[in-house]
Amino acid sequence: MNIFTLTNDGTDILGLERGGRMLDLTRSLSFYELTVNNTTIEPFRYIEELILDGRFTLGYLGEVVSCVDRYGLDQEFILSGGYTVNAPVYPGKIIALGNNYHEHIREMNQRVPEKPVLFGKWPSVVIGPDEPIIKPASVERLDYEAELAVVIGSKARKVTASDAMGHVAGYTCLNDVTARDVQKRDIAQSLPWMPSKNYDTFAPMGPCVLLKDAVPEPVEIDVQSRVNGELRQNGNTRDFIFDIPAIIEYISHIFTLEPCDIITTGTPVGVGSIEPGDVVEITCGGIGTLSNPVIGG
Ligand code: MG
Repeated sequence: MNIFTLTNDGTDILGLERGGRMLDLTRSLSFYELTVNNTTIEPFRYIEELILDGRFTLGYLGEVVSCVDRYGLDQEFILSGGYTVNAPVYPGKIIALGNNYHEHIREMNQRVPEKPVLFGKWPSVVIGPDEPIIKPASVERLDYEAELAVVIGSKARKVTASDAMGHVAGYTCLNDVTARDVQKRDIAQSLPWMPSKNYDTFAPMGPCVLLKDAVPEPVEIDVQSRVNGELRQNGNTRDFIFDIPAIIEYISHIFTLEPCDIITTGTPVGVGSIEPGDVVEITCGGIGTLSNPVIGG
């Protein structure tokens, strides 16, 4: 089940993709609550609200969809188009992993890390599908990095790997855009990766959140990138060095993970550069494709 955050006629709403068509989930939720629970609710317009309210589950949203079908409203609640797709969530924090695929480690001539390599991306650099990635004039080499991103569903502090997946709400695609020349210069001087990962627009995210309950575990999802339609990366999360439960356990022993935080899990082999005029697409199996043009800044 894939949940979107949309803007339709100037209003933000939730969407649920069904057979290539977009159901107005905001209307569906209100209808369900009124019909089944006899409750008038403030409309749910954001995935964050569903997560914080404990409603971002396959069980609850499945009941909503069944109710819409039962009352024959599945056609009426389908959006006719003209909406825009936004970044699915605006997280409190984004924790990113470097060097988390075996093949990518070889590509970058790095050693297999003994513990997860962590850095941060600021929430303010998130952009949604089709919004432009800006290549700053001062950056010589801009790289795409296709990544599977985990959306946290509940507060996680000092959790074990065996309990970790209970704190996951779902998955989305993230492009960990990187100023590679800046990163290489900084690494050579033992400086942090932070600047090279955090120019404005360097965290395209979307197009939706795939509910965690819809994905078998261990998570084995294809992670791909394309530039102008040409396949550049074609990995699978089974090549992870640290899997999702191990990552959550490790991070949650350092700081608390909050609902709607994002953990982006590193990139597979095949990173490369993009230039103004290019269109870069990140595809994660079951989630869909995140597409963004590149422009000069
Ligand atoms: Mg990365």
